[in-house]
Amino acid sequence: MLDITETYLRDQLMERRQKLESTAKVAGTQGGIADLLEEVDAALARMDAGTYGLCESCHDTIEKDRLLADPLVRLCLDHLRPDQRRALERDLELAAQIQRGLLPEANLGFAGWSVSYHYLPLGLVSGDYCDLLTRENGATSLLFALGDVSGKGVAASMLMSQLHAIFRTLAAMDLPAEALVERASRVFCEATMSSFFATLICGRADSSGAMELCNAGHCPALVVQQGKVTRLEATGVPIGMFSNGCYTTRQVQLAPGETLFLYTDGVSEARSYADEEYGENRLTEFLARQTPLPPEPLIRACLEDLNTFRSGQPLLDDLTMMAIQRGS
Ligand SMILES: [Zn+2]
Repeated sequence: MLDITETYLRDQLMERRQKLESTAKVAGTQGGIADLLEEVDAALARMDAGTYGLCESCHDTIEKDRLLADPLVRLCLDHLRPDQRRALERDLELAAQIQRGLLPEANLGFAGWSVSYHYLPLGLVSGDYCDLLTRENGATSLLFALGDVSGKGVAASMLMSQLHAIFRTLAAMDLPAEALVERASRVFCEATMSSFFATLICGRADSSGAMELCNAGHCPALVVQQGKVTRLEATGVPIGMFSNGCYTTRQVQLAPGETLFLYTDGVSEARSYADEEYGENRLTEFLARQTPLPPEPLIRACLEDLNTFRSGQPLLDDLTMMAIQRGS
C-alpha cells in the first residue's frame, strides 16, 4: 500500500478512536461503541504489524477505494460473505442514486444556449463531474463544468460529490471563471488527500454568444464552427495538486449554430477490439462532419460512433460528453 494512503488512514482511525472514546465517556459503552473501539484498535494493530490492507481470507491486497471509504474493511471483494456482499451492493446502489440526483437537467435551454450531455459511469458510480447552473444576477449567464477526479470507483465518486458541493457554493459568488477554479483548487486541496486531484473545465456563457473558459488540466475543449474544430488546451494544472495554483481564462465568441464540445478521457481513451485508441483526432474529425446537428442528436451521434469503433470492447473509464450550442 502507498505510504501516503496508510498515513491518511491511520489519521482517520485515530480520529475515530478519539470520537468513540469521547462518546463512550458521555453515553457509556453500550450501542456497540465498545465493539467499534475494538475494531479500530485491531486495525491500528494491523498497521503496526504490517498486515493492514491485506484480505484476511486470501492475504491479497484489499481494494484501495474500499479502504478509503471504510478503513475497517478486512476482506477483499472476492471474499465477502454473501450477506456482506448484499449489504455492499445496497450501499453502492444508494451511492449511485445519490450521484444521479446531483446531475443537472438532461437537456437545458437558457440564455440562448442549448445544452445536452451524456454521463456514463464505468461501474455503478462515477468519478466524472458534470454540472450546469443558470444565473440571473443582473446579467443572465449559463455556468457549465466538466471534471474528472483521479482514480475510479467509490473513492472517486465521493470526491466527485465534494467537487459538486465546492463548485455550487463558489458559483453563487459570481466570480470570474479563473477565480472560481483557483478557489475550488484551494478548497479541494485542503479537503482531500494530496494523492488525489481532479481535472476541471468550467466556464460561463452569456446571451451575446460570449464565453469565458478555464481549463485546469482537462482534455481540450473543442469549438465546432462550420466544419472546423478548434482545440482549446488546458491553461493550468489539475485542481487539488497545489493550493496556490494559478489559472487563466480564455474568451471565446460563438456565432449562432456553433458548439462547444467537452468530454472526459473515458471518450478519447476508449479502445477498439484491435486495441486501438479512439483518440482525440478521430473525435475532432467526427465532430467536424456533424456541424449542423443540435446538441442532443450530436451527443447521440458521437456515442454511436464510439460504440461502433469499440465493437463490444468494454469501456475502461467513466465517460462523459457535453455539447453547448448557441441557438440560431
Ligand atoms: Zn480475499
